Amino acid sequence: MTKNRSIFFNPFKKGRKLYSILKLKCPRCHEGDLFLNKNPYKLKDLDKMPKSCPVCGEDFYRETGFYYGAMMISHATTTVIAVIVHVTVFYFYGWAIAPNLLSLLTLLIISFPLVFRSSRAIWINFFVKYNPPVK
Ligand SMILES: [Zn+2]
Repeated sequence: MTKNRSIFFNPFKKGRKLYSILKLKCPRCHEGDLFLNKNPYKLKDLDKMPKSCPVCGEDFYRETGFYYGAMMISHATTTVIAVIVHVTVFYFYGWAIAPNLLSLLTLLIISFPLVFRSSRAIWINFFVKYNPPVK
């Protein structure tokens, strides 16, 4: 029997990196949660991660300072957001500094928890392949 394969590429299917990144799941089994509290806006628990995956046991703290690399991802993401905001605001207000800064600061503050967590998820996905444990 042949596998039922869709002709369309679905990046959000379990087993793909995007699934793990967008759902903040363990990069190895795609089942365990990367963060203890699912709500990123609960700022007290923003960076709280389990030591290892509760499902497959993958080590989430691979070495001391492992997530320093995630800051590069965060920086790149923030730069992309800043460019998009600037181009959008420039279209309406030109070079006026106040609308630029206000809209950029507002958007960065609102999106900070999401950028922070997705950066960590992207970073750990660089190093861990999808390899679910056999049941
Ligand atoms: Zn896992």
